[in-house]
Amino acid sequence: MTLLTERPVKAGTVLERMKEHEHEQILFCNDPVTGLRAIIAVHDTTLGPALGGTRMWPYANEIEALEDVLRLSRGMTYKSALAGLDLGGGKAVIIGDARTQKTEAMFRRFGRFVDSLNGRYITAEDVGMSVAEMVNIRKETTNVVGLPVSMGGSGDPSPVTAFGVFCGLKAAAKTAYGTDDLRKRKVAVQGAGNVGRNLIGHLLKEGATVYLTDIHDDKLAAIKAEHPAVNLVKPDEVIGLDVDIYSPCALGATVNDRTIPQLKCSVIAGAANNQLADEQVHGKALMEKGILYAPDFLINAGGIINCAWERLGYNRDAALAQTEEIYNTALRIFKRSQEENIPTYLAANQAAEQRVRSVRQAGLSF
Ligand code: NAD
Repeated sequence: MTLLTERPVKAGTVLERMKEHEHEQILFCNDPVTGLRAIIAVHDTTLGPALGGTRMWPYANEIEALEDVLRLSRGMTYKSALAGLDLGGGKAVIIGDARTQKTEAMFRRFGRFVDSLNGRYITAEDVGMSVAEMVNIRKETTNVVGLPVSMGGSGDPSPVTAFGVFCGLKAAAKTAYGTDDLRKRKVAVQGAGNVGRNLIGHLLKEGATVYLTDIHDDKLAAIKAEHPAVNLVKPDEVIGLDVDIYSPCALGATVNDRTIPQLKCSVIAGAANNQLADEQVHGKALMEKGILYAPDFLINAGGIINCAWERLGYNRDAALAQTEEIYNTALRIFKRSQEENIPTYLAANQAAEQRVRSVRQAGLSF
């Protein structure tokens, strides 16, 4: 089993790996009775409690799991900082097969581990998890979001994520073409899942020409029935399509040494986490090729914004209004990247780091 993102695992002791990106805390969780083996990583709590989902995945070993949780938790610090949320970055991974190994007892035990962090970490859904697990975790801790609407939660975050991606995509179009009118634009969406499905609804409403692919034909057929204007393409055709905008909404690392030479688009703007296989190498390569990359953690923040509102007392209109701000934030990041002649991912990283630093220096840390 490879890492979800197919990135190399780095060497070093746990403390050395924590030191590299200044992770605050890691909790290793082991419960022989329920079979729970999990790692919770708290990257940075300067801005607030570390909020980030729990991923259940059959990692080949604990080093792969540790690598994933370190990278994902750090990403959450940047995502929340850029979205203007008063939240830090954290994430959890459970080592196991989400299809066969889930039990109520396992998630209740996990909830107790989350509770032991006394609110420094708040969990939610990620890959391999669903609302049902959040309900079991909630039996043991209040530090969980992504609960069903019937329990006062915010429900499925994907429509809000898709709306934010749409806003970020429009900001990228405005920067690349001088207008965010999508009527003359051809957009290739990779992944007809929860986010992709909602995103194409916005794109079609705006008059864009939409190409869509997925590895599951049944998902494509259902979307084609709902939106006959969508053009379906094969999974291996999507990268080289002659389109204006490529929107990765499936897995990470689809922008890499192999795919960059094939890309014909001038904008990349999608939901998938960690789209660049190597941030530095491929962020620079896209800039040199004249492709405007909308950083994933900047434009897919709708989901975390939705979760943040669950803690404040859920208000969907307020969550959507805050998500719409992604448009203006993205415009600012693209401008900074152009003015300083640096890749967009770096401009976004610097803006996030500045916010965390200024709050810390003012002695206003959580
Ligand atoms: P999902 O699992 O519902 O959908 C992903 C889709 O991609 C599936 O339909 C799958 O069949 C398809 N797919 C997988 N490999 C593919 C390939 N090689 N080619 C084409 N299609 C492929 O997931 P989602 O909730 O829609 O999330 C999509 C991406 O956005 C993920 O990377 C996720 O981490 C990220 N994201 C999601 C949210 C959210 O609120 N759901 C928030 C932030 C980021």
